Amino acid sequence: MKNLCLILLIVSSLSYGQSNLPQDYFANPLEIPMILSGSFGELRNNHFHSGLDIKTQQKEGFPIYAPADGFVNRIKVAHYGYGKALYIKHPNGYRTVYAHLQKYAGAIQDFVKLKQYQNETFEIELFPEPEQLAVKKGDIIGYTGNSGSSGGPHLHFEIRDASSRPMNPMLFGVEIPDTKKPLVNTLMAYPIDEFSHVNGSQNPVKLRLILQKDGSYKAEKISALGRIGFGVSTHDQQDGASNKNGVYQIKTSFNGDERFNILFEKFSFDETRYLNRFIDYGYFKNNKSRIQKLFRQTNNPLSIIKNEVDNGYVFADDGYTANFTIDITDFQGNIVQISVPIDGEEVEISEPRVEEPTLDYIYSDQGTSISKEKFGIYIPSNSLYENTYLDIQVNGDTLKFHEDNIPIHKNITLTVDASNYSRADISKLFIGRLNYKGEPYFNNTSKKGNKLSARVRTFGSYILVADTIPPTITAVNFDDGKWISKNSTLKMKIEDDMSGISSYRATVNGNYILTEYNYKTDVLTYDFDDKVTIDGENNLKLNVIDNVGNSTTFEATFFRKQS
Ligand SMILES: [Zn+2]
Repeated sequence: MKNLCLILLIVSSLSYGQSNLPQDYFANPLEIPMILSGSFGELRNNHFHSGLDIKTQQKEGFPIYAPADGFVNRIKVAHYGYGKALYIKHPNGYRTVYAHLQKYAGAIQDFVKLKQYQNETFEIELFPEPEQLAVKKGDIIGYTGNSGSSGGPHLHFEIRDASSRPMNPMLFGVEIPDTKKPLVNTLMAYPIDEFSHVNGSQNPVKLRLILQKDGSYKAEKISALGRIGFGVSTHDQQDGASNKNGVYQIKTSFNGDERFNILFEKFSFDETRYLNRFIDYGYFKNNKSRIQKLFRQTNNPLSIIKNEVDNGYVFADDGYTANFTIDITDFQGNIVQISVPIDGEEVEISEPRVEEPTLDYIYSDQGTSISKEKFGIYIPSNSLYENTYLDIQVNGDTLKFHEDNIPIHKNITLTVDASNYSRADISKLFIGRLNYKGEPYFNNTSKKGNKLSARVRTFGSYILVADTIPPTITAVNFDDGKWISKNSTLKMKIEDDMSGISSYRATVNGNYILTEYNYKTDVLTYDFDDKVTIDGENNLKLNVIDNVGNSTTFEATFFRKQS
C-alpha cells in the first residue's frame, strides 16, 4: 500500500506540469510567425530569461494583440531593462508581460502620456485600477519595438502565475516548430573532493566528444576516483532561425539510475541570480560559453533542479567501471544523448588543485571587513557562494578587488577615504569600475564627509575618479532661429563623458515637454503631436545634469506653423 501511494504520488507530480495548465486560453500576441531569438530559462547575464523573445523581422511597429481578456495592472517606462513594458492580469489568475515596446496603443497610450505630463517625467511606473484599462482578447495593446536594454527589435513575452513567478509560455500551448536536436558544445568533468581526480587532474577537465552514427555523443573514456560531477554547455535551435536558444530539460543517469534533472518550466525572480552559482562562472568569464553544472553545490537553492540523487554527483571507486549519461531535450522532445564511460582508477596526480594561500581568505558564511590603505571593503555573509581566496591590492586611487572570475550574490560595500581632496573636489568624485578598456564606469556613489561608498556585485578594479566636465547638448534636426514646420519631432543629442547622464528636463515657452531618452543613440525626442508648442516663435530650454551634478542648459528658438 505504501509503495502504491508513493507511485501514485510520483505519477501525479510528473503529470502535474502540463495537464493542469490551460492550453487554448492565450492566443499568440503577434500575427507574424512565432520565431524565437530567446527561449524560457535561457542562460543570460546574472539571470535566467523569464519569457520568450519573439523575432519581429528586424523591424519595429507590429501590433501586439491581447492574448485573452483582462486588465492592465502595471505599466513601466524605463530607460534601461524592459524599456516600455505592459503587464496584464487575466481573470484566470495568470499575468502576461510585454517588454521593449515602441509605444502603447489607444487608451493605454493616452493614459501613460497623461501621467507622464502630470509627473513631468519620461520614466514612470503606474498601477491602474481594474476598471481603468480593461482589455478584450484581440485588442491592440501596443506596438513592438526595441526600447530599454534590447539588442534589436523583438517582443519579450512572459506568462506569470498568480504569485508572479515566470512560467514557460510553451506550457500553455504556444507552438514553435522545432525538428532539430539540441547542440552540444562542451562537456566538463569536475573533481569535487580533496582527493578526487579526473584523468590525473584535481582541476576541471574538458572532455573530448565523439559524434556517433545515431547522432548521440560518446565522451572519451575517463579514469577517475572519488566524488566527481559533470557540466555541459548546450543550446537549442528551432526551425525558423539559427538563433541559439535554451533547452527544456537536462537529465543525467549513473549506471541507468537517474541522478539529476533540470527542467525549465518555472522559477521565481528571487532565485534568478543563482544562475551564477549554477554555471561555471570562471569558465564563462574566460571563454564566453556557459557550462551548466549538473550537480547542486552548497548555496544553490534553484527550484528548476528536480529529483536529484546525491546532489547529482557520482562516485568513482577504484577498479569499478561505470557509465554516466546526459539526456538533453528541447520542448518538442528532440533529444541528444551524451554517454561518458568511467574507469574507477587511482592514478598519479599530474595536475594538483590550484590554491592561493597568499591571498585574503573569506569565509562565505560570515561578514568580513577588510581595510587596505584608503579603501575599505565590507563583505556581508553569503555574498560569496563558498569560502574563497581573494586578491585585493591598492595602488593610489585604484583598488584591485580580485578579478571577475568569481560571482558575487549580495552587494559588497566599498568605501574610500577622500580626505586628501578638497571639499569642492570631493563633490565631483565617484567610484567607478574600470571596464575592459580601462575606462571608469559610473557606480552609484554616496558621500558622507570625506567618505565615499558604493555597493558592488562584480569583482574587478575600482577607481576613485573626478568628473568636472558638464554634459554636452546639440540640436539634431533643427537650427536655432529657423522654421521647422515640417518636423514631426524635435531631437537633441545629450552626452556626458565620465559619470553619465543623471537627469534632463525640457520646456518650450516655459511649459514642460515630454522627451524620450534613448541611451543607445544619446538622443532625446519630443513628439510635436503632444501639442505643447504654439504657432510662430517657440523658445526651447533643455537642462541636463550628470551623475555628479555638473549641469548644462541649452536654449534655442524655432518657428513653427501648427497644422
Ligand atoms: Zn527577453
